[in-house]
Order: sequence, then C-alpha cells, then structure tokens
Amino acid sequence: MTPLAAELKALIATEGPLPVDRFMALALGHPRHGYYMTRDPFGPAGDFVTAPEISQVFGELMGVWAASAWEAMGRPEAVALVEFGPGRGTLMADLLRAAAALPAFRAALAVHLVETSDRLAARQQDRLAVASVPCTWHRDLSTVPDGPAILIANEFLDALPIRQFIMTASGWRERVVGLVDGALAFGLAGDPVPPSLVPAALRQAAPGAVMEICPAFGPLAAGLAARNAPLAGLFIDYGHAASAHGETLQAMQAHRFTDPLTAPGEADITAHVDFAALGHALSAAGLCAGAPVSQRALLFGLGLRERAERLARCQPDAFETLRAGVERLIDPAPAGMGSLFKAMTVASSDGLLRALPAAT
Ligand code: SAH
Repeated sequence: MTPLAAELKALIATEGPLPVDRFMALALGHPRHGYYMTRDPFGPAGDFVTAPEISQVFGELMGVWAASAWEAMGRPEAVALVEFGPGRGTLMADLLRAAAALPAFRAALAVHLVETSDRLAARQQDRLAVASVPCTWHRDLSTVPDGPAILIANEFLDALPIRQFIMTASGWRERVVGLVDGALAFGLAGDPVPPSLVPAALRQAAPGAVMEICPAFGPLAAGLAARNAPLAGLFIDYGHAASAHGETLQAMQAHRFTDPLTAPGEADITAHVDFAALGHALSAAGLCAGAPVSQRALLFGLGLRERAERLARCQPDAFETLRAGVERLIDPAPAGMGSLFKAMTVASSDGLLRALPAAT
C-alpha cells in the first residue's frame, strides 16, 4: 500500500467518501505524497513522455507561435511569457532558443513559470539557468505581473481534477472513492445531482452513461480574464473537441495504464480535456476562444516541415531520431499524438484571436 493510500483510507474513514476531483487533487498534489510533488515522471525511465521531450522541434514551433502572437499584439515593448505546468522546462528552453532569431521579441520577454511542484520547479530552474531572459516562478497566476501576456500550456489541463457523474435509474449520481472491505473502491454518492450542473449537450443519457466536468476551468478562465490586458494563449492537450459521455479518467505508470486506485501518489492520473467545455468557460469569462485544431494541423501550420528539414541538414547523424520524433508528434491515427492532441487558442479580443496562428 502506498503512503498516500493509507492517508486516503484514514481520511475516508473519518470524513466519508471523496468525490473523484478531491481524490485526483490529493493523488497529484498532496504536499508530501502527491505524484508531481515527489518525482520527475518524464521520459523512458519515468511514466510517460510528452511532446517537448520527444522532439526539440515542438518547443521551437511554440517559439514561432509565441513570436507571431507578439507581432499580432502590436509588438509590445514588454510582454509576460507565461507557461502553465512546465514539466522539465524543456519546452521553454527550446522556445527561447528559437526566439533568439527575433531579437526584439526576445528582448521584450519576461518568462513566468506557473508550477505547483517544488521538485519540478527546481528542475526547470536548472534547465533555464543559462537562458538570457528573466525567469520567475509562481504557484498560480495571481502573482504574475499585470500587462500583456502570451500563455502556453502543454499537457497541463489534463492534470486538473475532474468530477464524474453516472446516470442511474433515478438520475445522475456523483462517483466517489470510498472503502469496501478496507480497500479503496469507486462508488456512488447518495444525493441526486442538481439538473443545473448537467451541461445541455449531455442531458440525454442512458443508464450507465458517464459525464465528466472540470470545475477548475471556470476559475482558470476568470483568472485570465481578470488580467484585463492583451492576452494570447495556446492550450495543447489530449481530448475531444465536442462534449461527450464517457469515462476518460486514466492512470499511467511506467508507460502502462493501471487502475487509478491501485497506487495513488505513484501513478500519473489524468483525464481527457473537454475542449468544448473549456471554450464555454473562456467565453463566459469574456475571452475569445478559437475552435480546437489537431496537433498535426497546428504543427504543420507553424512550419514543421521546413524546421525539421533544416535540422536534418544541420544534424545528419541524428536524422533517424529526428524523423521518428516528428512522425510521432503528427501521427494521424485516432490514438496518435497528431490527432488525439488538440490545440485551442484564446485571446482577449476577437481581433487578436483572428490574427493568431492556428485560430479557426
Ligand atoms: N508541460 C510539460 C509537463 C506536463 S506534466 C510537458 O509538456 O512536458 C504537468 C505539469 O503541470 C507538471 O509540471 C506538473 O507539476 C504541473 N501541474 C500540475 N497541476 C498544476 C497546477 N494546478 N498548477 C500548476 N502546475 C501544475
């Protein structure tokens, strides 16, 4: 039994079953035993691999996107480049290297990294120590200084806790984590779910249908809108373009799916992102959100082919690794990164949104 499982059992014994979002928040973010607090989970020796860890081309193209966003904003003299959930800092390091091609852009940048894990923040500090741009770390957006901002977030939204609901003969019931014979087990809360909580797109459902909502989308959108300054952002993650029924909560350990209740704190727990719900939350906060595009379309649109060809000429020995990495990022198979992963742009005004690359 993991140390976190022992704590969760004691908590459930005294307070009762936990909604799935509370369980997920503790599994990932418990101050001592949370998954992201205790480890560097990336790469072949870890639990999963993300796009910036697969190929430097990914972060470099994020640099192209950010530079275009800066141009679209009218080249502000000072702009905050904010990254949510920066992992090992690889995306930002690659982005800044690519940004060196546009010295005026690079000179305008102050980097702000929003990270809850001290351990990963230390890793990012090491990685960005040589960046000739000021970098500041934050626990959330509230301490990022006012003013124009460019936001990037790759595989951040999937780590935000979700609530799950299951349709029963007597209506929707919330899924909870409780105890059965002393072991963690999924169950259903007794209280019916108020109909106002069920999005219109999901009202028609057969018994057994699962609905997921991410309560953090609203506060995230409100926090971005409250900055009240020009904003251009890009969210990239795996998920679906339209809200749909279905269970997407997943746990991953050593590159294999596992039961989320088996080793809490030692497996990554995520959910697919409902981009339609994210778009609604951003619009409700007064921001403008683009339609999601596939990662494949995003990367081609940013000049993937040209950049990969240029790199291949500079590093002929690494050609095969480079080709395999790029192929993986744009794999069009339904479960491949090129199609499962989507990108959504957000902007503080409709005019700015329409001037951003990949905004549809
Ligand atoms: N963007 C990176 C890492 C993705 S993993 C990459 O593509 O490789 C998720 C990252 O988000 C980790 O750095 C994790 O510690 C961070 N994170 C998780 N929840 C967070 C939250 N609520 N606020 C800020 N960072 C968070």
